[in-house]
Amino acid sequence: MGLKDKLTQLRDEGMAEIRNSKDLQKINEVRVKMLGKKGPITSVLRGMKELSAEERPVVGKFANKVRDELTTAIEDRRAELEQAELDAQLAEEKLDVTLPGTPVAQGQSHVIQQIIDQVVDLFVSMGYEVAVGDEVEQEVYNFEKLNLPKDHPARDMQDTFYVTPTVLMRTQTSPMQARMLEKHDFSQGPLKMISPGKVYRRDTDDATHSHQFNQIEGMVVGKHITMADLKGTLEVVAQSLFGDKLQVRLRPSYFPFTEPSVEADITCFNCMGKGCAICKHTGWIEVLGAGMVHPNVLKMSGVDPEEYGGFAFGLGPDRFAMLKYGVDDIRNFYQNDVRFLNQFDEKG
Ligand SMILES: [Zn+2]
Repeated sequence: MGLKDKLTQLRDEGMAEIRNSKDLQKINEVRVKMLGKKGPITSVLRGMKELSAEERPVVGKFANKVRDELTTAIEDRRAELEQAELDAQLAEEKLDVTLPGTPVAQGQSHVIQQIIDQVVDLFVSMGYEVAVGDEVEQEVYNFEKLNLPKDHPARDMQDTFYVTPTVLMRTQTSPMQARMLEKHDFSQGPLKMISPGKVYRRDTDDATHSHQFNQIEGMVVGKHITMADLKGTLEVVAQSLFGDKLQVRLRPSYFPFTEPSVEADITCFNCMGKGCAICKHTGWIEVLGAGMVHPNVLKMSGVDPEEYGGFAFGLGPDRFAMLKYGVDDIRNFYQNDVRFLNQFDEKG
């Protein structure tokens, strides 16, 4: 048999093997067997040196043609098999969308945040703007501009974390009063603001004290604002948080940044004023501090106390939450035990 016939036979055998290859592994084996260095075509080409000078280019050209045909056939078959394999894989991985999914545990707002949101929403609905300040504050805004000069004894009421001699962790949200008074354009109407946020005191943590807690500060400054406006506002807050039959009582108190200053009590929501353990049998519960903004505070922020005046109040959402839910240890709110926190499901 001549080399050309041998090549034709090899080609026909190869083509049959390629057609019969059922998977990628098999087609790969065929490729190595037919076209590899030890394959029959290579050995035919080696035998070409025995041929005459006239025959050699003819057989060489034919050998190249056979190799090209086989290579193309192998590649086509391989592409076919790859596609078939992919189709099979896709069919197998088909999603059953009717299967139930893995349940995802849904989080919720922290109980203190729920109270803050409730109070803030209430004030926003009454046209107050929300002013969130920085927890790191300049001493001058935390104290001086709130009528607490350097050696004022009331500074001792608030043990302070200092960052530098003039920068501190704010001990109250009141610095936002001074900052907003400085910024506000009173020709556009009164300033009505609410400022929720975290504050810090150098306190030893116990059942009723925490070195970090929350405050919500509110202030209204404008023309003709009176103590009656303050009382009415506090009634709205108390009733929206604790129930609409509650009354508010104001008692004289002292804060450096208000004059006069008051403590606000609400009717005990537990006994409705009859007297119980929660209200220590007085029928009243102290919920916040308030007063008419001190003329010095207005003056120091460039507001004329002869022309403008108003009220301010500060309440503690932590204390509100303790009262509302009967929690007797403030530390529970900050230890982040989800078994405790999950009890206050806002949806439930
Ligand atoms: Zn009571």
